[in-house]
Amino acid sequence: MSRKAIFLDRDGVLVNNSENYYIWKYDQLQLVDGVNENLKLLTDCGFLLFVVSNQGGISKGNYSKNDVRKLHARMTENFRNQGIEIQEIVFCPHHPEVEKCMCRKPESLLIDKLIAKYRLNQAVSFLIGDSESDMEAAQAAGVQGIKIEPNQNMYPYISFLIK
Ligand SMILES: [Mg+2]
Ligand SMILES: [Zn+2]
Repeated sequence: MSRKAIFLDRDGVLVNNSENYYIWKYDQLQLVDGVNENLKLLTDCGFLLFVVSNQGGISKGNYSKNDVRKLHARMTENFRNQGIEIQEIVFCPHHPEVEKCMCRKPESLLIDKLIAKYRLNQAVSFLIGDSESDMEAAQAAGVQGIKIEPNQNMYPYISFLIK
């Protein structure tokens, strides 16, 4: 039994961050083009979906963990209304200028934990991100990284996964 997963970076991949570097309020939430359609396609192919995000703005005091959790609850609900189930959204609240940690990408700890918790098969799992640190985290976690252009429809990069 092989449980395959897609780990998604949040900002620049699901959420358009071209206008705001830090996004924590619902009215800042603008999805990247094609996200609903693409996540539906990945779901239909049997992938479990997870979101793994660096939220260093928490460490810097720009917003709170609770702000992020509330935003993520609404995102999850919106996706669910589109027939898309996000299994879990995890985030690193730390920023290296404030405190060192072991969970901020390019570290793979958050992904490693999800792999263990959901008994995922790394060999058939992927991480979609828009930065080099996402790709490093993917490699460290033993999953294949797919690097997309920030805030661009991911379809051309994932079409090879869709049968
Ligand atoms: Mg990003
Ligand atoms: Zn961290």
